[in-house]
Amino acid sequence: MDNSVANEKGRIKRVVIAGGGTAGWIAAAALSKKLGELLDITLVESDSIGTVGVGEATIPPLRTFHRLLGIDEQSFMRATQATAKLGIAFENWGREGERYIHSFGKTGTSAWMCDFHHFWLRGKEMGFDTGIGDFCLEHQAAEAGRFAAGPKSPLNFAYHLNATQYAAFLREFSEKHGVTRVEGTIHDVRQNSKTGDIESLLLEGGREIAGDLFIDCSGFRGLLIDKTLHSEFEDWSHWLPCDSAVPLQTRATGPAMPYTRSIAETSGWRWRIPLQERVGNGLVYCSRYLSDDAATTLLLERVDGEPLTDPRVIRFTTGRKKQTWKNNCIALGLSSGFIEPLESTSIHLIVTGIVRLLQLFPFTGVEPSLQQEYNRQTQRELEDIRDFIVLHYHVNQREGDVFWDHCRQMDIPDSLAQRIDLFRERAHAYQNNDELFRVDSWVQVMLGQGLQPQSFHPLTQMITEQEMQQLQSGLRAQVAQGVNALPPHHEFIRQYCPSSAPVPA
Ligand SMILES: Cc1cc2nc3c(=O)[nH]c(=O)nc-3n(C[C@H](O)[C@H](O)[C@H](O)COP(=O)(O)OP(=O)(O)OC[C@H]3O[C@@H](n4cnc5c(N)ncnc54)[C@H](O)[C@@H]3O)c2cc1C
Repeated sequence: MDNSVANEKGRIKRVVIAGGGTAGWIAAAALSKKLGELLDITLVESDSIGTVGVGEATIPPLRTFHRLLGIDEQSFMRATQATAKLGIAFENWGREGERYIHSFGKTGTSAWMCDFHHFWLRGKEMGFDTGIGDFCLEHQAAEAGRFAAGPKSPLNFAYHLNATQYAAFLREFSEKHGVTRVEGTIHDVRQNSKTGDIESLLLEGGREIAGDLFIDCSGFRGLLIDKTLHSEFEDWSHWLPCDSAVPLQTRATGPAMPYTRSIAETSGWRWRIPLQERVGNGLVYCSRYLSDDAATTLLLERVDGEPLTDPRVIRFTTGRKKQTWKNNCIALGLSSGFIEPLESTSIHLIVTGIVRLLQLFPFTGVEPSLQQEYNRQTQRELEDIRDFIVLHYHVNQREGDVFWDHCRQMDIPDSLAQRIDLFRERAHAYQNNDELFRVDSWVQVMLGQGLQPQSFHPLTQMITEQEMQQLQSGLRAQVAQGVNALPPHHEFIRQYCPSSAPVPA
């Protein structure tokens, strides 16, 4: 355990954020809006280094975060070319040619003793030919390309957004709330010789930025948490072997659909994220099975619009820093570790990281108990997400493709093995305390990947065929009515939040 204390005099007033990508500006926005009157906040970023520039699909809790900050949805969506996201369509994941949607909605209606999918499984046994997604409004709205936002919208949704414009939007917000931005390249970090705590950042040209608490948002470089404080890295690449990505933006060729597409490919998968004017594409792959050149060629062959950027390879290792809070430094974003973008969880983890810091903020000094609690909560959150992502890879039936064969045969975390057994044997799924992914999420993905339960809750045997007919047709009618009341997604976006950003040349 790390017993050093950030500021022996106690008071934490000067917060320095190193880096101005999505992580840096989310941290700056939250701290300045919520604690701005108590703190002096400085953010250092380097235009010459730039940001990773990807990260365009989000999940619904981002809307709660925006509400916490008082961000107006329409202004935000206009400024970031945003469209709606109701879920992710997984294509070719279970088997080539198959498709399922992991949607953000609630599926059916549950009895207290067992969740809806048990009744649905019983219905299948009786011969009802329905999909589990037939009972979910968000799923059906996604398929139909329909959407509405606003206070009366019944939909649980997230956004597709332009990452660069999102950082710029949050920068304007943060500067209005008192954040000082310093342009410069950090070339050294000064530490207290006794405690190891960080005292200041030294910039090229000689400027020194001193602080009491530092937030490392320097991306994969991990300038503070890794290069300076050497927080140990826990490598998860034996469970998540993809280590590379090639992003590529293309011009939109048609109206944006309100969902992300994730398409399994040889040795990895491809994303397609539709914004208002352009599409974000990319291939995530394992370099042991696919060369960078082959990956780039494959991506260029698959995209359907005119490329607007050059493909470039990003290398990563999946895993986490064991201490994301070490000494007087908290790592957020890519510096804290990385789980690949399959379920769009990275921006979410930045948000929960900064909210956790707001809750545990060390106003009177960095206490080991605060650090420990912060790190404990972070670890638990990450391990649940990791298991959910590994599930997609491990439960596949893409036989004959060496990469997918490897994923099927690889060892998996015990915690995930237990979940898979429980579902396979009894159709039970659960959500841990504070876990991000709901029972509906686990069920949609387990069924979608082809995991068939051998039995389900006996309570469902008490339902007659006629009752099942009534239950299913009632729920489906409700969903259909909900979908019909929604306008087409692209028309809604054109009215609600037409992009104020320049159209790509
Ligand atoms: C291929 C890929 C796809 C992704 N897709 C998604 C997605 O769909 N959804 C999602 O939620 N997340 C996604 N992510 C993750 C997401 O991109 C990141 O979580 C997010 O962009 C945060 O990045 P960051 O701010 O930590 O790092 P960066 O964007 O790399 O920012 C680092 C900052 O540090 C600054 N900096 C670095 N070194 C110095 C220095 N020496 N001096 C001064 N400044 C410095 C840089 O200038 C920059 O401002 C994806 C990631 C990858 C790799």
